Amino acid sequence: MPGPQPRPNVAQIPTYVAGRPPTVRPGMTSYKLSSNENPYPPLPGVVEAAHRAVETMNRYPDMRNAALYEALAARLGVPAGHLAAGTGSVALIYQLLSAFCEPGDEVVYAWRSFEAYPIAVAAAAARSVQVPVTADGRHDLDAMLAAITPRTRCVMVCTPNNPTGPAVSQRDLDAFLDAVPEHVLAVVDEAYLEFVRMDDAVDGLATYRDRANVVLFRTFSKAYGLAGFRVGYAVAQEPVAAALRAVSLPFGVSTPAQAAAVASLEAEAALLERVDALVAERDRVGSGLRELGWDVPDAQGNFVWFGLGERTAAFASAADGLGIVVRPFAGEGARVSIGEVEANDRLLELARTFPR
Ligand SMILES: *Cc1c(COP(=O)(O)O)cnc(C)c1O
Repeated sequence: MPGPQPRPNVAQIPTYVAGRPPTVRPGMTSYKLSSNENPYPPLPGVVEAAHRAVETMNRYPDMRNAALYEALAARLGVPAGHLAAGTGSVALIYQLLSAFCEPGDEVVYAWRSFEAYPIAVAAAAARSVQVPVTADGRHDLDAMLAAITPRTRCVMVCTPNNPTGPAVSQRDLDAFLDAVPEHVLAVVDEAYLEFVRMDDAVDGLATYRDRANVVLFRTFSKAYGLAGFRVGYAVAQEPVAAALRAVSLPFGVSTPAQAAAVASLEAEAALLERVDALVAERDRVGSGLRELGWDVPDAQGNFVWFGLGERTAAFASAADGLGIVVRPFAGEGARVSIGEVEANDRLLELARTFPR
């Protein structure tokens, strides 16, 4: 007799390929540049706040995330009711799709983009409509608009785009949002927001304020360096934010995670200094690569993209030999996070020695 059967969409959920940890080699420090993590440890105040919170681990966390919402509302200048926290912004993608999608509804997003999108879409029994990015790794916003049908429930804009790097401009985003039907959710995934340094950069908060269908996704995992603690949040008008909160896992964000996020917001000046240092490294790597003749897309996050096609695996294994672990996407390219100065130097060394 057959056992219990999951819904048919479950068999279609792609497996998340996590960035590999570095290979341990005697006499050589190895660096993990495969998950877009922040190479800096959390600031001392953050560790202490988390330690204090750990002492109450016999108690459930504050389910209402009150201190975190209060700190975010003050920092961003938005009502607390416009916020929804989750266990990383990946969880918020699941929450959004489970709150808004019926089975078979369509979700339009660029591809290649964030690996969690097709997983979350399949888990919600919705349908992915993937619109190829341009040759220089940008969203093709016109093609994304053209892909919207009566079944479309959600469009997602990942800016800067993971893994290719470029960000959309405010002007292009506005023109896009003006054309998205009002009943279609428009996600702006701003996971790498703090690293953006470009003219006409997106101002997410100004963008969501007068649009009922816009949802911003943000995270403490990247610039804030709290990837291991799992805290992200969404900003949207009250009805959408309330729906996200309604379907959230009760007690999802742990007390240490909430405390660390609040302390990180308090230490923001110091954190943003570290972000500036990473941006300087990113730009050093970017110009180094271009001097070596590599044509890499504009990098607005904390990573660079090598569109290597069939040579991706060879590049990843050459990187391994130099003690850096990159994130290969078989047959497409490799994403390399900006890390410690020494790690970035090794990437430049790899770019010098690997045939272009
Ligand atoms: C890393 C990342 C996230 C955030 O993930 P968390 O679940 O918050 O750790 C969201 N979107 C994109 C595009 C990312 O690269």
